[in-house]
Parts: sequence; structure tokens; C-alpha cells
Amino acid sequence: MMDKSFRKIVDGKSYIESLRNRDLNVYLFGKKINEPVDHDMIRPSINAIAKTYDLAVTDPELASVISPFTGERVSRFLHICTSSKDLVLQNKMQRKLGQLKGTCFQMCVGIDAFNSLYSVTFEMDEKNGTDYHNKLIKFLTSMHKYNFVLGGAMTDVKGDRSLGPSQQVDPDMFVHVTKRTSKGVYISGAKAHQTGCINSHWLIVMPTMRLSEEDKQYAIVGAIPVSSKGIIYIYGRQSCDTRSMEEGSIDVGNKEFGGQEAMVIFENVFIENKNIFMDGEYDFAAMLVERFTTYHRRSYVCKSGVGDVLIGAAASIAEMNGVDNVSHIKDKLIQMSHLNETIYATGIASSYQGFKTKSGCFQCDDMLSNVCKHHVTKLPFEVSQIAQDLAGGFVSTLPSEKDLNHPKIGKLLHKYLTGSSKFSSEERIRILRLIENMTMGRNAVSYLTESIHGAGSPQTQRIQIGRMMQLEYKKRLAKILAGIDSENDKNEIVDELGDYFERVFNVK
Ligand code: SF4
Repeated sequence: MMDKSFRKIVDGKSYIESLRNRDLNVYLFGKKINEPVDHDMIRPSINAIAKTYDLAVTDPELASVISPFTGERVSRFLHICTSSKDLVLQNKMQRKLGQLKGTCFQMCVGIDAFNSLYSVTFEMDEKNGTDYHNKLIKFLTSMHKYNFVLGGAMTDVKGDRSLGPSQQVDPDMFVHVTKRTSKGVYISGAKAHQTGCINSHWLIVMPTMRLSEEDKQYAIVGAIPVSSKGIIYIYGRQSCDTRSMEEGSIDVGNKEFGGQEAMVIFENVFIENKNIFMDGEYDFAAMLVERFTTYHRRSYVCKSGVGDVLIGAAASIAEMNGVDNVSHIKDKLIQMSHLNETIYATGIASSYQGFKTKSGCFQCDDMLSNVCKHHVTKLPFEVSQIAQDLAGGFVSTLPSEKDLNHPKIGKLLHKYLTGSSKFSSEERIRILRLIENMTMGRNAVSYLTESIHGAGSPQTQRIQIGRMMQLEYKKRLAKILAGIDSENDKNEIVDELGDYFERVFNVK
């Protein structure tokens, strides 16, 4: 992957070229795909990443940074955050990208993996005298040199959920080390629904949960080229996905952009020693997972950018239906905006309330990132419900593009599908197809289902919020005001802030 002939990726075009001729083992509809780049169903997900590289050209301040390792401009998706401003800019870029693509742009897992590993390897080395942090910096430097895409591989298939990794009947239910040599380790197992994995250049494999001493062989973090021997990718289907393989540009709803998830199977895949960043340190697995999910749950402000597109589509269809001045329609658009900004507000607040870790890397606020992600598990559904309400029944009963183009019935359809005379029937149909695409079609996978399960299903955020809500402290505040005797001195209680409130009231 990093041979001398390889040039740094500088824009969307050179990114797309960098994915060619890799001979990946990608399976879709039971067949191996020769060149994923040219596959009509896969290409929209590649276009989504290419657009991110293009944004770095047109808006370098937002979508790129000067690398501290190479001194050259690289994608912001490869940047280690060293201030809360860096965290905030990441969120702003994510919102912009959501607006431009109307779907998942797939690169956030990599940046969140790099940032969480940056601080965790530092603290592991400090405790154990290992050398993971320097190895990570060297790897990061080579990624900056080529401006590559890093895919994060975290979610194991998990088998029987009541059992831990080492208790499973089949040890491959969680990715683990199968063999060791003087040059590195071999791993086997499978990671489920991996976002953008085929469109990446490198994968970073990480444990998916807290581990115990018996799970030592599962405490492995390492980077591997996407084209490594022994990796099989099985493409995940999305509703209405085959529409992108049909002729025409209307029925697909969003012709250019789509998301990507695949199952990644590892059959004795080799990881070189220099690219191993955890091996056996089971007691740091929970720290890594918690820091990663804190970053990633706040990355879900991406959905507010996608929400902007859906609000725009809902407002447009109201206009095209001739009802844009009706008061309850306006009120529904206000409700959509309120829900959408609630997601953004909690995500960006988590970034503003970020704090410095021992490594110098900035970690965003965990309470607020969990609140952000928990909103995301619900609010896009409410936004979608209103969008469908405003769209009317045609959102699910429109005839196909082929019927619209039919010499006999086409004219009749255009006549009867016209709304306000200010717009053509085709414009109205295109907006309806976009709403269908985002709320029940292909891109509903990223806007709705992924919103529930990505970065942890809703209960995982509730558990974290429960851990951090400082109920005893809040009870004591209430008791003081209610005049109930307390064992502690009242001033002492009010000063006893704890983790979250220390950040809330930090005035430095
Ligand atoms: Fe990024 Fe959002 Fe896609 Fe996750 S769902 S990878 S946060 S765009």
C-alpha cells in the first residue's frame, strides 16, 4: 500500500484512483466484485468520501489541517485534537458534510479511533513501560504522508451475548490473536456492519468491550492494510439499493451519494509488530472503548447536517404543493428545526467542554456526547415523520421513472403529478424521491437505523448517563434547600462538584 510509486491523495479524483486495482475480496449478491470502484451500487459510497477530499480543497480551513508530523495539509479526519477548538471544528466539518451528501460520509470512526488511541497508548506506556505511543505516532505520520482513509473496526459479532469473549463456544465470535511470530501476530474473527471499510486504505482493529484477564488474546489493537491476505468483505444490503443499478436518475432519490456497511471476516490476518498498539493489556480495553465512544457519540452531529437536507426537502415539497404559507405547515418546519438543532447543540457542547488528557490530546465531554447520541436514537425519527407528513402519500406511491418516460402514459403522469404551477412535475417528483430515499429508502439506513445502533444502541448511552449523573450530589442540593438536616457542612456540599460538574463550572 505504501510503495514508492504511491502519491499523496490531494482531491476526490486522486482518492478514487487510489482505490483501484487492490484485488480485494469483496462479495455482493454471492459474487466476488472485480473492481468495487466501478460497481454502480458501491460507487455512491465512494463518491461520499471523494466529496470530503474535495471540500478540503474548496474550504481548507474547515476540512483540512497542517500536519504536525509532515508539515503538509492533510484531511481533518486524520487530525489529533489538541484543543477544544479542534474538537469543535471537527463537528462543524461533520455538519457541513452531512449537508453536502445527505448520508453517512464514513470517515469518523477512523478519526475517533486515532484520538482515543493517542491518549490511551500514552497512559498504557506510562503505566507499563511499553512503546505503543511512539509506534502510533509513526503510523499516523505515514497516514499523513499519503493522506489516507483509516477505517475503524470495533463491533465484534459477539455470538451468545450472555457470555464474554473467552467463554464463547466458538472463540472467533470476538477478534483474537491466533498465532505469534517474531514479526507480529495473526488474528481471526469477524467485525459486523463496518462503515466505509472497503473505501478505506487501512483498518484499525480494536476490542469492542471491557475485557478480563481470561480475555488477554482478545486485547489486540493493530493496523492492517485493507488489502491484507485473509480478509473477506461481505457487502451489507440497504433498502432500495438496486435502484442505483437501474437506468435514470429519479427513482434512486440521491443519485450521487450513499453509505456503506460490510461484514469483515479475518482469517489469520497478519499484523506487523510496528503496527500493534495494544497486545494483552486487557485492563485498558474499557478505557479505549469508553474514550472512543465518547468521541464517536459526539460525531453524530453528522445527523444534524443530514437533517438540514431533509428539512429543506420538506419545505420544498410544501412549496411545491402550494401550502408553504399555511400556519401549521410553518409550525411543523419549526418543530423539525428545533429537533435538529437539539442534536447539534449537545454534540457541539460536548466539544466545547472538552479537556486535556495526559498525552496532550483533547477528549470531549462524555456526559454530553452520550446525551447527543441518545437524542440521535430518537429525534431523526420525529424529523422523518414530519417530513413524510408534509410530503403526502405520493412519497410511497409514485410510479417509476420508466413510466414517466413512457411515450403514452408519461404525459398523463406528468399532468396529474403537477402541484403548484411554479414548479415542474419532475421537480416535485425528485423532491418526493429524495424524502423517500432519506426516510425509508437507501439513505434511511444512515439517517435512521444507524442512528439507533451506530456507536452503541440506546441502552449503552443510558448506562453511561446513569453512571455520570451524580444523583447523590443532586439529592444533597435538594435537601439543603428543603431544609433537611445534612451530615456535611452545607458549603462543603455545594463545593463537592465531581467529574461532570467540575467541567460545567470550570472557569479557567
Ligand atoms: Fe460519521 Fe455519522 Fe457516518 Fe458515523 S454515521 S461515520 S458519525 S457520518
